[in-house]
Parts: sequence; structure tokens; C-alpha cells
Amino acid sequence: MNTHFLDEHLRSLRLPAMLAEYKRLAQGKDDRLNYLGELAALEVGKRHENGVRRRITAAKFPVIKTVEAFDFSLQPNLPKRRFIELLDSTFIGERQNVIFIGPTGVGKTHLLSTIGIAACSNGHRVLFTTAAELLMSLIAAKREDRLKPRLASLDRYDFIMIDELGYVPFEREATNLLFQAISNRYERGSLGITTNLAFPDWTQVFPDVTAASAVVDRLVHHAIIFELIGESYRLRSRKGLAVEKDGLPKRPK
Ligand code: ADP
Ligand code: MG
Repeated sequence: MNTHFLDEHLRSLRLPAMLAEYKRLAQGKDDRLNYLGELAALEVGKRHENGVRRRITAAKFPVIKTVEAFDFSLQPNLPKRRFIELLDSTFIGERQNVIFIGPTGVGKTHLLSTIGIAACSNGHRVLFTTAAELLMSLIAAKREDRLKPRLASLDRYDFIMIDELGYVPFEREATNLLFQAISNRYERGSLGITTNLAFPDWTQVFPDVTAASAVVDRLVHHAIIFELIGESYRLRSRKGLAVEKDGLPKRPK
């Protein structure tokens, strides 16, 4: 019997004595090896499942979204295959950033969450936050003279998602803090960003043009960028609902 997987399982479960002795104790009996193999596989599976659940909870996703629930036909310009590739999380190992740009309601947060959840399944430590929330926590940390440890605490995540960057104009102090957080991360960990701002417009929300271009430079340098277009999905479905309630046939205008 091929015991390759059993060896792997016992190693990953950190059971060195069992690994060293199970063959001797099985006395060449395949049914014993099968039994142990099944038990070990069960334990590995359960621990993996628990780990994924723990990482998803720790990431604090606002909602759980799946790739199956995303209607790609509404985003014909989005390179679907390139997006799907992100679900294997290799971009995280390569310290790449992922950026979704587009107006409200087109699915930026949905898509970003999807790759975040996949990252949790692939064993990565992940954090989901909004730009406003992150800034508030950095400002509070700075006031309490804990900025350095706060920035360092972000280092333990393999992938940090910052939702809604650019929705509110930043104060000078906030820009500076955000800049520090992004610089700190530069080439050391992955960021996932959603924003309604095209890069040339970043100078409008950052009080300082130099700071704006420095942030953009660092974000974009190793980034995979997706631009989403179109009408808000919520608005679209609300219109759809209204039509159905009226009992009128849906007719494109
Ligand atoms: P954004 O972050 O761009 O403002 P969201 O990702 O929050 O938009 O999307 C708004 C809502 O519409 C969410 O409930 C999302 O799941 C849904 N949605 C948006 N685009 C699509 C789509 N193409 N297919 C399915 N659901 C979508
Ligand atoms: Mg959003």
C-alpha cells in the first residue's frame, strides 16, 4: 500500500512517534494502514476546515460573498480569467497588491471579499477594513503614542484589504498616517484596495500632491488593477423589482 499521504498527514499533524512506528505496528496489514490513513485524513480535513473558519472570522468581512454569486456578464470588460487566477492566492506570496477601481455599486467590495475569503482558505492571515476605520485606529494609536506597535501589528497579516479608499477627503495628518501604513507594507505584504478614484484624481482627496503621488506609486508598483464600470447593481435590481411588481414585461428602453 502507498503510504505517502499517510506520512504527509502524520507529519502535518505533528505526530512524530506515530509516524516513526505505525508501519512496524501495522505488521504489514493493509486494513490497519487503511484505517489509520482514513483517521488521519479525517483529522487533517477537520483541522483545515476549522482553520479556514477561524481565519474568516478573524478577518472581519462585512458580508460573505462568493465568486459564484457574481454575474460577470455585467462586467464584460473585466478580465474574468485573470480575476479567477487570484483565487489561488499566489499574488500574496509575490507581495502583489490588487486594486479595484470604479463607481459605487458595481461589485468592487464583492470581488475583493471573494479573493480575501479564498486567501483564508489557502491558509493566509487576512484583515478586512475600510480606509475610514483604518485611519481612525491609526489616529487613535498616534494620540496614545502607540503608532509604531499599531503599524507593526498589521505586519502579521498576509493580506490586508482596505475598502473605500478615497470616498472621503483626507486631512493632512490622516494622509500622513495612511502613507506610513502603505509604505510600511510596501514589498513586505499584499494590499487589496477598492476605490472610486481614478489615479489622476487622487490629488483631489490628498491635501498634498507629493504625498498623493507617493501613495499611488507604492500601491501601483506591484499591482494588479481591475476597472469596473456601469450602473450600480442595487439600483439595477431595484428597477428590475419594480418592473416585476407592476407585472409588466421587462422591455429594454
Ligand atoms: P461597490 O463596492 O463597488 O460599491 P458592492 O460590491 O458592494 O459594490 O456591490 C453592491 C451589491 O451588489 C452587493 O450586494 C454585491 O454583491 C452586488 N453586486 C454588484 N455587482 C454584482 C454582479 N456583477 N453580480 C452579482 N452581484 C453584484
Ligand atoms: Mg464597496
